Amino acid sequence: MTARILDGKALAEELRADFQKRAAALATRRHRPGLAVLLVGEDPASQVYVRNKVAACAAAGIFSQKLVYPADVAEATVLAQIAALNADPRIHGILVQLPLPRHFDEQAVLEAIAPEKDVDGFHAENMGALAQGRPRFIPCTPYGVMQMLAANGVDPLGQEAVIVGRSNIVGKPMALLLIHAGATVTVCHSKTRDLACHTRRADILIAAAGKPRFITADMVKPGAVVIDVGINRLPPEAGGKLCGDVDFETVRDVASLVSPVPGGVGPMTIAMLLANTIEAAEREAGR
Ligand code: NDP
Repeated sequence: MTARILDGKALAEELRADFQKRAAALATRRHRPGLAVLLVGEDPASQVYVRNKVAACAAAGIFSQKLVYPADVAEATVLAQIAALNADPRIHGILVQLPLPRHFDEQAVLEAIAPEKDVDGFHAENMGALAQGRPRFIPCTPYGVMQMLAANGVDPLGQEAVIVGRSNIVGKPMALLLIHAGATVTVCHSKTRDLACHTRRADILIAAAGKPRFITADMVKPGAVVIDVGINRLPPEAGGKLCGDVDFETVRDVASLVSPVPGGVGPMTIAMLLANTIEAAEREAGR
């Protein structure tokens, strides 16, 4: 079997027309959606993500403001900026690019964002609402995965879903969304015994461990749907390219559907950030 490719780039492009229409409609009502992106430090991957997010806003007609700080900035400075953005009527969404430098209390920074502007969905109030099945904002990466499944006719209802990774930004919210969609969910992590025994049961396998190509064909059930969330940069001696957590070339011979890296979940994560920002502006306009 050769798997069909879950093309996140094409799906994100399809969604853009809808975003442009909604952003333009809001702008005519003097509610042009606005997103603020805060970047602390010089991490090259974070710089690329922020650049892509700002460019995607421009393409969709969303106002964006990029705020860059050196790695040694005081946490209080960033908190003061977030407080100002919370009160800024031009801004409907605030995103702090993670990871933050070690001297930051990451959770305290995320909690400083007003929950109604928390378009990443990482605030405890929004995570709690998601856990209860009444989300205000769905975290962008798992939201993008759910959209990719739906767009390709994959209904999680009654299916065995296995997630490799339990982070607050990917694994946990992914598990909640799949539970609410009716899947039977297993969450694996670094302490899981016999990982392959779990992954081989999966009808839907989500890889989000940050380990290059570590999901190999022998770990995948024939016909499974495999979503690769991982973004890993190979070392220069291995070509320096981006790759996922899934060994794409071998897994595509076993799976029925597989998402590539790049061009899979990454573009959908950005698309869902735009969706959440527009939704925040629509809520504000409706108030
Ligand atoms: P984290 O490092 O926060 O979490 C990784 C998770 O994987 C942890 O739960 C960890 O377990 C688990 N894990 C690590 N090694 C193993 C192993 N050998 N076996 C089983 N589980 C393991 O990463 P993130 O969740 O932030 O990101 C995961 C990946 O997704 C990264 O490659 C990241 O770059 C990418 N990413 C991609 C996005 C996109 O837009 N496509 C967006 C966000 C992230 P434990 O908890 O026990 O340590």
